[in-house]
Amino acid sequence: MNITKFFLPVSSTFIISIFSILISLTIDFQQINSDFKADVMQVDRLLTQQIASLETVLVSLAGLHHASDDLNLAELSSFSEEMLKAYPFINTIIRIEKLPSNEIFSFEKRMHKLGFINLQLKSSGGSRHPIETFYLPVNFIEPMTPSSAKLLGLDIASLPQILSVINIAINTGNISASTPLVLSDSKKDIILLFKALYLGRYPPQTKTEKSSMFDGFVTLKVNIDHFMNYLKLPAYNLTGKLYSVKATNKHEEFKLNHDLTTLSFTKYFKKYNQSYYFSLSRTITIGMINKWQMLVIWLLSIIFLFFIMLILNKRKDSEDKIRHLAFYDSLTNLPNRVLFKQQLSLALKNASDNKSSGAVLYMDLDEFKRINDTLGHSFGDELLVQVSKRLVRHMRQSDSVLINSLRTNDSVTRLGGDEFTVLLINIKDSESVRHIAKRIQKTIEQPFNLNNHKVYVTSSIGIAIFPLDGDDVEQILKHADTAMYHAKALGKNNYQFYSDQMNSNTINKLLMEEKLHQAIEKNELHLFYQPQINIETNKIVAAEALIRWQQSELGMIYPDDFIPLAEETGQIFSIGEWVLNEACRQNKAWQEMGFQPIRIAVNLSGLQFMQDDLGLKIAQILKTTALNPEDLELEITESIMMKNIDDTISTIIDFTNMGIGVSIDDFGTGYSSLSYLKKFPLESLKIDKSFVSDIPEDKDDMMITAAIISMAKSLGLKVVAEGVEKKQQIEFLKEHQCDLMQGYYFSRPVPAKEFEKLLAKQYIK
Ligand code: C2E
Ligand code: MG
Ligand code: MG
Repeated sequence: MNITKFFLPVSSTFIISIFSILISLTIDFQQINSDFKADVMQVDRLLTQQIASLETVLVSLAGLHHASDDLNLAELSSFSEEMLKAYPFINTIIRIEKLPSNEIFSFEKRMHKLGFINLQLKSSGGSRHPIETFYLPVNFIEPMTPSSAKLLGLDIASLPQILSVINIAINTGNISASTPLVLSDSKKDIILLFKALYLGRYPPQTKTEKSSMFDGFVTLKVNIDHFMNYLKLPAYNLTGKLYSVKATNKHEEFKLNHDLTTLSFTKYFKKYNQSYYFSLSRTITIGMINKWQMLVIWLLSIIFLFFIMLILNKRKDSEDKIRHLAFYDSLTNLPNRVLFKQQLSLALKNASDNKSSGAVLYMDLDEFKRINDTLGHSFGDELLVQVSKRLVRHMRQSDSVLINSLRTNDSVTRLGGDEFTVLLINIKDSESVRHIAKRIQKTIEQPFNLNNHKVYVTSSIGIAIFPLDGDDVEQILKHADTAMYHAKALGKNNYQFYSDQMNSNTINKLLMEEKLHQAIEKNELHLFYQPQINIETNKIVAAEALIRWQQSELGMIYPDDFIPLAEETGQIFSIGEWVLNEACRQNKAWQEMGFQPIRIAVNLSGLQFMQDDLGLKIAQILKTTALNPEDLELEITESIMMKNIDDTISTIIDFTNMGIGVSIDDFGTGYSSLSYLKKFPLESLKIDKSFVSDIPEDKDDMMITAAIISMAKSLGLKVVAEGVEKKQQIEFLKEHQCDLMQGYYFSRPVPAKEFEKLLAKQYIK
């Protein structure tokens, strides 16, 4: 499985999940935070109200004292009771009187009278120490409980920690609060708030007035915990603290603690001449997280991701498709010319970087056009597909050292038509390339099975080595192409290394087409003659006329390179007629020169053969050249014969009636089943040179050759073997009673003048 295909969705699902959870948590946190702030505000407002109410109570109490000169204890008690009921966060209301030091006795007496028997003025430390000249004993407490009663008679001035607070209260007339302290009646932290009472109707203005007119305090005792309880913090899911601190200039602060689990609010404030620190906090719990919201966000994100993936995948698919169309051949699925050029360019760069060499093998199937024309395009396509598969399989199996750094599948390319390339990199030497070229040819030579038709094809390969033969893509390609055309020109089914001498123009078709028009008038066409030897007598009994085009600029051009073109342009008719004429004329001329009469074999193009008036034309030619019809033989290939069997039979019968022999050329490469052969009134059969050339190495070819000969013999046909190059081949053919031989062993095709010399050697009367 493709690791990225698996990894990508899993990792992106993971990331998007984390991301969506984070988003949801952020939203949650904002909600939690704003809830916290709202609650804190609410509580803070309550606190401020409670604190302000302390002032209300003290001011009312002071007002009550100032309003009545003679406030009786019962009135004060009931008023205080009301107050405590209205403001339950206040623990105790206390009144303190200013007691001059010489009036202790009368004070104690007064208190005894009020029912507090045995009450004595007492100080907190045990010893009495008046402020200046007076004491400040508690003379009233509401509510009066056994424990609060203990405060009665206590000289407040004996509490050292509140001396300064008392002085401020006296000197300013404002409420002044103590720092938290522990009084004997309770174990808890309490705060005392003092408001001074003054004598007289009008409030004193100056400090001196205030100090002289001071007459006592109304005081509130507030238990901090008790006070805080009235803020109802548990109901708000908050915990809080309030305590007095040294003066600070810090104010309010909201913050999230470092452990991310607690939100807190802190506030410093000054009130009643004291600085306080107030804090509220709330612990964030899992319960505060909105799980549904998280689920919905997560689901939406996953759906979103899914669509994005879908879109991306679609896009990638179509990009892949476009890429495939742009870079791969649709028929064979091989890389196309564009990709090949890119790969070659890379290979060239690598070669120059690593100081290594590579090669391009440019392969073209021989006579692919014929297969296409005779069997149809679907067969042609099927052949190309099979060829490409064979090439790929072959390259994969072979010489992996040579193609190690290139993906094997991509080393084979279809450039177009029947042209393929093989790109080799890091080659050792040209010998190894030669080896590969040979082996490719061998693979292609194996029969192809196209819809139960056995088809034989050969290939021509041109080889360009880089950087030796060029260092840019176009040049290498052109040179490999040139070499391939040379391979074709040299009789096909071979490979050629590019060399500078190769004139790439010789194969420039366009140029050729133009020049071919003038070939006949300019006398540029010539016939070469190749002898056919009687295997028993070793004498020349016939010659095959093979056309050559001696082009003034391009040099010698071989028939394979211009006959197809002539067929395409229709020039084949005039050329063919010229060949027939010239061959007959030459043969007659040799006879007239006194040589033993031989037969002249002329190749006919398929188009020529299908001409209605071919018989007439030939009769005319025989007449004008005065050649005996028995001395003319017409060669047609298997593929031509099979095109229109009935017409072919009647045409051949016509020729036979005229006394002209007809032979089947290149036998074995086409598709005629042997059984068909007997339908044609043929005279001879030419075994294709591809079978002969591998004798004696290839046992299969030897068997086929032997079979063809014996079969032809049984049909009463004369057998001619083409492409005889070696002595062993002659022996083999002799052994199997082949009739005639033709090949380089005896002579290459030569001009008429040279052929005469061959004739002269054996036939001069
Ligand atoms: P073909 O009729 O099969 O001709 C035999 C070809 O085999 C010739 O190639 C000849 O040079 C080559 N050959 C002969 N002996 C040997 C040998 O021992 N070894 C090798 N490797 N090759 C050998 P050439 O002359 O290039 O002609 C190629 C083809 O062009 C001919 O094949 C024939 O089909 C066609 N052709 C030649 N002349 C004419 C013509 O006047 N008219 C037409 N229509 N076609 C022609
Ligand atoms: Mg021939
Ligand atoms: Mg032939």
